[in-house]
Amino acid sequence: MAANILLVEDEPAIQELIAFNLVQVGHQVLRASTGEAALVLIRNVLPDLILLDWMLPGVSGVEVAKRLRSDERTRHIPIIMLTARSDEQDKITGLELGADDYITKPFSPRELQARIKAVLRRRAPQITDDTVEVQGLCLDPVTHRVSSNDSIVTLGPTEFRLLHFFMTHPERVHSRTQLLDQVWGDHVFVEERTVDVHIRRLRSALAATGHAALVQTVRGTGYRFSSR
Ligand code: CA
Repeated sequence: MAANILLVEDEPAIQELIAFNLVQVGHQVLRASTGEAALVLIRNVLPDLILLDWMLPGVSGVEVAKRLRSDERTRHIPIIMLTARSDEQDKITGLELGADDYITKPFSPRELQARIKAVLRRRAPQITDDTVEVQGLCLDPVTHRVSSNDSIVTLGPTEFRLLHFFMTHPERVHSRTQLLDQVWGDHVFVEERTVDVHIRRLRSALAATGHAALVQTVRGTGYRFSSR
């Protein structure tokens, strides 16, 4: 599974090493050396996961986590805190503030990768490789294939990501802004109308297998993927 990961780490050598390891296993890495820089970055692009150093100059990692959790737009982003301390109380504080996991330096690339996988599986199923199925519609992230019985549904890359997000977050209303953040990773430079265009394409592709009605318009709000 490949994710967009924001790495917030002030020590250049450690930042370099972690970024290298993440890229090696296929992730895309955004970097910030301060909490302030991280918060600015997140205003434009939402990462799939944040690796957040506890001890940062200026705004601390703990404070960054707190701010992200108190904002509707960023509260769901999985956070793994990185720290040099192995203090049990710090761990509890970090988790109480909303971090999803906690890893103590020094850690091996394998350990980090395992933690990332576990957190993503729990918090962001749309970027894992698990097959999803709704009403006979089957999406396999590994083969990038969508099918129903023996029919293959042909989708463009954006429609595929959109469908994957919908299928892993069914029965909820998603606004266009949320979809831009979640599927495009960008609600600033992409127009909301773009969402409607891809929804139309997705529906017409799903019509072939009789699944178009799963993509519902919620008037004045956005879209919902629902089998009801
Ligand atoms: Ca540090």
